[in-house]
Amino acid sequence: MKIGLIRCLQTENVCPAAKCFQAMREKKGAFAGCEEEIVGVNTCGGCPGKNAAQRARHMVRQGAEAIVIASCITLGTPHEFPCPFRRKLTDTVRTAVGEGIRVFDYSHDAPKKLRTEASAGVAESGAVSGN
Ligand code: SF4
Repeated sequence: MKIGLIRCLQTENVCPAAKCFQAMREKKGAFAGCEEEIVGVNTCGGCPGKNAAQRARHMVRQGAEAIVIASCITLGTPHEFPCPFRRKLTDTVRTAVGEGIRVFDYSHDAPKKLRTEASAGVAESGAVSGN
């Protein structure tokens, strides 16, 4: 599956997306059971995720068959602070790319504490988890 990854701009200064790429390599998290090819990695564009939808759409034009919203946005890694706009951001991306494109609501797993805190903001959005 060809994938476009959207990540948090605020975490870019500390995180080189290492855990996302590790999850891809090891076929874990959102990448379980998939053969992936990365079309591109881009940030949300800054609060409040102002470019996420546009960038996701662009990745789809470049061949992405799925968009992964990274765990820094939805689960709050590595700062233990999920994006306050995560639900809206995810929904906006989903609307922008349309029904034929899968949208994953996390990239790699996170500590249970973060999953619990973040789940209220994303689970209700109807996001796809896993495959
Ligand atoms: S909108 Fe969310 S994902 Fe984007 S920079 Fe701000 S906190 Fe990070």
